[in-house]
Amino acid sequence: MMAPGIIVHGGAWSIPENLLQPHRDGCKAAVLRGWQVLQAGGSAIEAIEAAIITMEDDVTFDAGRGSFLNLDGQVELDAGMMDGATLAAGAVAAVHRVRNPISLAKQVMASEHILIVGPGATRFAEKVGMPLCAEEDLVIERELELWRKLQNKGPGYTDVLFGRKDLATVGAVAIDQAGNIAAGTSTGGSPNKWPGRVGDVPQVGSGFYADNVGGGGSCTGWGEGIMRINMAKYAVDLMTAGQPASEAAKGAVKLLADKLQGVGGIILIDREGRTGQSYTTEHMAYAYMNGRMAEPVVAV
Ligand code: ASP
Repeated sequence: MMAPGIIVHGGAWSIPENLLQPHRDGCKAAVLRGWQVLQAGGSAIEAIEAAIITMEDDVTFDAGRGSFLNLDGQVELDAGMMDGATLAAGAVAAVHRVRNPISLAKQVMASEHILIVGPGATRFAEKVGMPLCAEEDLVIERELELWRKLQNKGPGYTDVLFGRKDLATVGAVAIDQAGNIAAGTSTGGSPNKWPGRVGDVPQVGSGFYADNVGGGGSCTGWGEGIMRINMAKYAVDLMTAGQPASEAAKGAVKLLADKLQGVGGIILIDREGRTGQSYTTEHMAYAYMNGRMAEPVVAV
């Protein structure tokens, strides 16, 4: 029997002082939720779904309710997950009116599709019996205020990405008692993004990847860069070649910096169950837990 473990992230970037504690609390709650699932004998997929739902429901993070708004002032969400035992994957992009896009990604994973986008994704949610909410249910006052400010600047989301960004994407990677590894990521994307803009998060190999042979990973940071180096798959390839999670994480963010002068972060679990994380932004909120620990490590 494998020793189970889980690592989560609550996004990269420059988290301001007043939001540091909410990021720690949110990551801790998520990692403990996922850990509970693993301890009860749940699968890695079930554990990452539970952890990510916890963060999607927490307005601290740029995922689910409380996400950044797009140019039209709406929450438009991306999420994806992968099962390292079978290489099954599922994702949704630019989806509206879904509270927990990670669960919709799981439904897509169970279908014959991999990625469903836009109105088609909302329709798919209806088809599988997932309740839809109103557009406004996902919008909070803090984000409306930011959106109003950004309207003077136009749809300049790339400027915003390199400036201060207060909250970010969430993700989780877990290994269960059977030694199966799963990874997933969920986001509202970048502030004031062009409607339909999709980053790395729902793309297999970019925002997430899992293969029991090497390990699993979930990314955060500059999506337009992460996509071009397939960062999650690159990190898993390093682990497949024998690098521990800690080294592979450093290698992945280094590639982003070397090739594209890009910044970001990554969390990993290798096939031995070791966790690793690395980031080149000012902060990355993360937490991890396994059977050898009495308490999760939480950092930001
Ligand atoms: N990578 C995400 C995106 O490009 C943003 C983030 O991680 O903060 O949508």
